[in-house]
Amino acid sequence: MKITDIVSEIFEWERPGIWNGGHFYGPGRLHKVTVTTDEGITGYGWNGGTAAERPLGMFPGYVDYFRTLLIGRDPMDTRGIATDLGEKQIKILGPGGINTQVLAAINIACWDIKGKALGKSVHEMLGGAQSRIRTYIAGGYYAEGKGLEELKDEVRFNVEEMHAGAVKIKIGDPNQGVAGDMRRVEAARQAVGDDVTLMVDANCALDLATSLEFADQLKEFGVYWFEEPLPIHRYQDHGTLASASDIKIATGENGYHLAHFETLLDHKGADILNVDVTICPGYDVAKDVTDLAARHGVSVAPHGCQELQLPLAAAIPHGEFLEYYPVAVDPLRAEMFMPHLAPDSDGYVTVPDRPGIGFELNMDFLKRYQL
Ligand SMILES: [Mg+2]
Repeated sequence: MKITDIVSEIFEWERPGIWNGGHFYGPGRLHKVTVTTDEGITGYGWNGGTAAERPLGMFPGYVDYFRTLLIGRDPMDTRGIATDLGEKQIKILGPGGINTQVLAAINIACWDIKGKALGKSVHEMLGGAQSRIRTYIAGGYYAEGKGLEELKDEVRFNVEEMHAGAVKIKIGDPNQGVAGDMRRVEAARQAVGDDVTLMVDANCALDLATSLEFADQLKEFGVYWFEEPLPIHRYQDHGTLASASDIKIATGENGYHLAHFETLLDHKGADILNVDVTICPGYDVAKDVTDLAARHGVSVAPHGCQELQLPLAAAIPHGEFLEYYPVAVDPLRAEMFMPHLAPDSDGYVTVPDRPGIGFELNMDFLKRYQL
């Protein structure tokens, strides 16, 4: 089989602004790549979603650059493509960034083709260890006019209406300080009760001293994990924090290369890896990261678009959680993907066995927002 073309499309829609410790997110955005083959099989991959403040308008330029390297290649050789367009392009494009995010979408589309050609799901091809996986509901962002009561309503809704057994909220906004954020953590714990797993996420906003202060206080509220406390390359600080902290340190959503995770774990800097297949880039490298995690006795809870992360998270025995974005984070989520993925009454999701990724973009709906 040979790749005959690759097409890039971008979409944008209005959405109420939200922010975390480090970034403001305005409009929702999505970048889609379509890879076509001489055997009539078409694969799809995409970037974007919640953290859509990234400049997706620049993505098609990278697809143009990669196109000449892809046409005529066998899409089944997903690893060869990941290496040749990633590792071997470091001198030209740099080690990670928009180039590797675009490569991720291409790699995902090629896995989609491979699955459709073999009649197997990506989940099965990656190991297929779990048929169902526990979710946690992401959210608890900062937003205009959102106080403690609104935060409580949100996490309570996630538990009562969305069947969440686990929820996450943001900390790290410099305007809140440790005291302000701890009031939010306390409010969230009050709202969900003691039986629900609670996580916090600082999106790299903190320094080591503040992270240590948080870690000490978060344990009082039974917080399960403390996500991305520090800038990603502060490996030594991650090690110091993880060894001093009674709660688990989770990180990895911005890890763009296997070497990042190797260095992080060499420093014993994390208990849970939040690898993201749209960042790292793609299923081949992500599987390498999960294999590395297994060797270190560390679990995996992927970050990002649940439809793309599910095949990986549930493929491995140490896939602990799937992050799930509800419509509160992006109203279009309910209609953007086909079929709609939602937690069952026990807070788990069931992995589809359809060939390929198992999900597609709803283009009848999305075309309204195409740029
Ligand atoms: Mg995060």
